[in-house]
Amino acid sequence: MGINTGTKSIDKGEIVVVEEVTIKNLISGNWVTSTSGKTDKSINPANTNEIVGHFQLSGEEDLENAVQSAAEAQKLWRKETGAARGAILFKAADILESRIEEIATTMTREMGKTLPEAKGETARGVAILRYYAGEGMRKTGDVIPSTDPDAFMFTTRRPLGVVGVITPWNFPVAIPVWKMAPALVYGNAVILKPASEAAITAYKVMECLMEAGFPKGVINFITGSGSIIGQGLSDHPLVDGITFTGSDGVGQRVGQAVLSRGGKYQLEMGGKNPVIVAEDADLDLAVDATISGGLKSTGQKCTATSRVIVDQKVYDAFKDKLVGKVSELKVGNGLETGSWMGPSVSASQLDTVLSYIEKGKTEGATLLYGGDRLEEKELAKGYYVSPAIFDDVDSSMSIAQEEIFGPVLALIKVDGLEEALEVANDSKFGLSASIFTSNITKMMTFIDDMDAGLIRVNAESAGVELQAPFGGMKQSSSHSREQGTAAIEFFTELKTVFIKGS
Ligand code: NAP
Ligand code: MG
Repeated sequence: MGINTGTKSIDKGEIVVVEEVTIKNLISGNWVTSTSGKTDKSINPANTNEIVGHFQLSGEEDLENAVQSAAEAQKLWRKETGAARGAILFKAADILESRIEEIATTMTREMGKTLPEAKGETARGVAILRYYAGEGMRKTGDVIPSTDPDAFMFTTRRPLGVVGVITPWNFPVAIPVWKMAPALVYGNAVILKPASEAAITAYKVMECLMEAGFPKGVINFITGSGSIIGQGLSDHPLVDGITFTGSDGVGQRVGQAVLSRGGKYQLEMGGKNPVIVAEDADLDLAVDATISGGLKSTGQKCTATSRVIVDQKVYDAFKDKLVGKVSELKVGNGLETGSWMGPSVSASQLDTVLSYIEKGKTEGATLLYGGDRLEEKELAKGYYVSPAIFDDVDSSMSIAQEEIFGPVLALIKVDGLEEALEVANDSKFGLSASIFTSNITKMMTFIDDMDAGLIRVNAESAGVELQAPFGGMKQSSSHSREQGTAAIEFFTELKTVFIKGS
């Protein structure tokens, strides 16, 4: 076990420690502290007096040990059958499933999303593990007819080797799992560098994997700053591939570092996802989906709806319904029953949200609802903001162009589908997009002309199914896809084999 303590409710004056843990790195099958012995803390954004745990502030030496451990272990791991590798993933799924309640609670305490959302995400982690466990038994190549009558030609795949996994804090269970599970089943060794904001939750996922019985060194876990450990993984010549999810600025740096040494990389980054509400939309459905897609998880999803592009014929009716329903949402601690929306993840995220709200006003949009820091009673201890709705937004404004990663909706009025699509495509991002319409021609035009990797019709922008490929266009990704049947493309390399009898 990598946890040091598990004590309950110690009152240290201002600081309330509900369950103080110090997690360790996992290197070569052992839970170890960093060489420097330094740690940093992860706090609860709903109550900043509460420390969720401490994680190792690792350095270059720790990283080197993790990489060497993975490189050594991968040599044997790749020789295992897919079935044997899958069997361990099935076991990991059962262990994670038995800990859903506990791990979801840690997630809510550590990064703020509501408990039902955290449970849903952890259950998704279980389903992802099972999906990829089954992959161990599926085909790995094709037979291609040769022009030589005496030859046999086929493709086969081999694992990349050592994969560095760099993940964000907003899905601290699902994202590490959807990257590590395929990497492992296809025969790679992994090194996970989780986001510091949610390191304790990610650690618990590693505990489940470790208990399932991966050979030592096949799975490694190392915490610390992004600029040292994340960058170090990206630069390391023995790390054959990097799979990254996070902001576009960091992603571009990671991609350049890996490219410059001839490695393989996959980047999933930001979004500025639009929903188009056409004149013939079911407005109640569109309002509910805008709220769910835009404000669940406090708007902190890469697929969150942030631009709401509404036909002028239904604009006022839509707007009134939206404001009415948003004003009923309860903001509060995600662990409390009845809280619909929790806090922003950190002080800096809260500052970003509040500064965009100011920018929206300065640039001439009208703040219709919310956008205030909430500081009444218990809320004063956390990073809470009320969901914001802006009216009179022009597509050129910052709040319509830049990723905010908070509960901010920008309403843009358009005349007809052509203008709606023009506005929707007026973005450097292209992750997810949705339309509400009952007209099949409009649906087909949207599917064809919208620049986004995920297209959703009469459904919120933030829905993703684990068995389907996931990824964005433009600056939302490195034009690669992950999850579902797409994962094999990144985590393996094709070999074309030509055999002729002698
Ligand atoms: P972030 O700041 O880019 O961090 C992502 C990860 O990169 C963290 O583990 C971070 O470590 C690490 N990192 C930081 N600096 C690094 C460097 N110089 N080199 C290598 N790694 C480095 O993103 P975030 O704030 O955690 O997550 C929010 C962002 O993720 C949003 O932009 C969101 O759109 C995006 N996201 C995208 C998807 C998608 O699939 N497209 C899904 C979810 C989230 P530290 O935590 O230690 O800094
Ligand atoms: Mg935290």
